[in-house]
Amino acid sequence: MKRKILHPLIFIIFIFIIITILIRVLSLTNLINKDNTKIIILDNFFLDNKNDNLNYRIIDKENIFVFETEVSKKDFDRINCNIYKIILYRLAAQSYKVYFNDMLIGEVGDFGKSNSNIWNGIHYFDIDKNILKEENKIRLEVFASFEIGLLAFPIFITSSSLAVKMINWVNLFLSFHLIAIGSIMLLFLLLISLYFLAGSSKPEYLYFSISALFLSIFASGNLSIYTLPVSLFLFKRIIASSLFVCVGFFSLAVYKQFKNKANLFASMILFTSLMLMLIFIKDLSLLKRVSSGLSFLILLNIISWIYTTILNFKKSRNAKILFTLNVILLILGGYDIFFNLTKETHSYNAFSLNMPILMFFSFIIMLLVVFDYIDLQKNIAIEKEKGKILYEKSTKDQMTCCYNHQFITETLQALKEPYSIIMIDIDNFKPINDNYGHQTGDYVIKHIAKILKKNVSKTNYVGRYGGDEFIIILVDIKQDNAKDIAEKILCDVRIPLEDHKGNKLDLTLSIGIYTTKGNEKSEVVSHKADMALYLSKNNGKNQINEYKE
Ligand code: GH3
Ligand code: MG
Repeated sequence: MKRKILHPLIFIIFIFIIITILIRVLSLTNLINKDNTKIIILDNFFLDNKNDNLNYRIIDKENIFVFETEVSKKDFDRINCNIYKIILYRLAAQSYKVYFNDMLIGEVGDFGKSNSNIWNGIHYFDIDKNILKEENKIRLEVFASFEIGLLAFPIFITSSSLAVKMINWVNLFLSFHLIAIGSIMLLFLLLISLYFLAGSSKPEYLYFSISALFLSIFASGNLSIYTLPVSLFLFKRIIASSLFVCVGFFSLAVYKQFKNKANLFASMILFTSLMLMLIFIKDLSLLKRVSSGLSFLILLNIISWIYTTILNFKKSRNAKILFTLNVILLILGGYDIFFNLTKETHSYNAFSLNMPILMFFSFIIMLLVVFDYIDLQKNIAIEKEKGKILYEKSTKDQMTCCYNHQFITETLQALKEPYSIIMIDIDNFKPINDNYGHQTGDYVIKHIAKILKKNVSKTNYVGRYGGDEFIIILVDIKQDNAKDIAEKILCDVRIPLEDHKGNKLDLTLSIGIYTTKGNEKSEVVSHKADMALYLSKNNGKNQINEYKE
């Protein structure tokens, strides 16, 4: 039991650690620190004669910003190669041009237009050794419509070979975004399929799936898209809303799973704020500010998930998994807030998540739902088995496992096609009880039941009508000769039986048969079979009689 509880939790933490290490290893900072003598970091830019190193900030009006810096030839000589590369990684803006000694060496995006999403990309341009002077001017013209600045690392220059290595690393890291988006889309398909497979009985699967769908939309905000199909404002509105919708639906899913109103409440606050944001915010910089500010509501939702999972921690395995996951998320969120508030290059977001974390999160959700679905299927199988047992109990006689009186009566009432009835009563049963005891009497009843079942196919019915009286209903046309069956049964019964005390018992039966002709009422049919049985008893028992008018 204990191992079962521990397993998924250790697994989650293990995956988390692996991902964290992966991010560290793949990060550009890590690569640069390794080779820091081979790079020139450009951290002495000037904007309007004031020192400005492109710290990230939101701006209120779109504008072209001109940043300038100088690099001496001595710094280039330290690296010493024929082609240098200037690398700009995660520069948040709409487009920019790079000049080296007043010569345009590269540009990204449609300069002056707000129709690209390039903030998360890595861009690089060649600087030929031949154009180097003693002092070299680097000018950066940045067109920004609502935000400007570097999000990860200063602009730097390095040798072409080292640059290629770094760029490949970063691009590998960035390609992870596409994998993540694809996987989360697949997750959406999986979850929605499970929702339909579960016969819509699990609304939380639907909510989890919607959550995943919007997470993948949100994740596409990380892609470098050079020409957007829609306006940047609409694009940013979609991306910002997607995270809110994703978290809101996640809260709804948690609410459906654990029935805690706190989660419903948290999601409603989020959805209401999102609606107000979408209605009232009409420009990009305000959208950025408000959506970043409102991201504390995401934290609020995560806290509501943690609260619910604590309440259900002992009861449910899913609660344990979700709890662990949410605590990790909360720590990451807290880490983000701490850095955004203390670092100079803060991105204003109270809460943001990087792709590997989102993937990790999605992966755990997938496991959660799949496990839950497996449990659901197991429960359905158990319920089915229980239903079967209950049905057996309510339709069968406990001692002989023949159908009981009520079932036989209902079956007779329901029959439409022609059928035969064989009515059977043990002869002189009372004396067996009296002479050998009830235990022997029971033994005889079970023995007769066995003989009846042996001679009648499974598609027909053998019932205990009461006491020492049995009934056979023959509905299967393959076994329609009631007389033959009755004779075989009588033959088998006449073989002497020995009880547990060694008493030899000579048993006989009286049997009455009736085969229906048209659409007769069940009471009439059983009465006629009874009449035939009565005839057998009256004629001296140990015989078979068919009903005759
Ligand atoms: P007949 O040949 O005319 O059928 O006479 P009989 O002695 O068999 O009399 P009858 O069928 O009327 O009696 C049935 C007896 O079966 C009455 C009751 O005490 C006994 N009996 C009913 N159910 C059970 C049971 O479950 N176990 C035992 N041991 N006896 C039962
Ligand atoms: Mg009897």
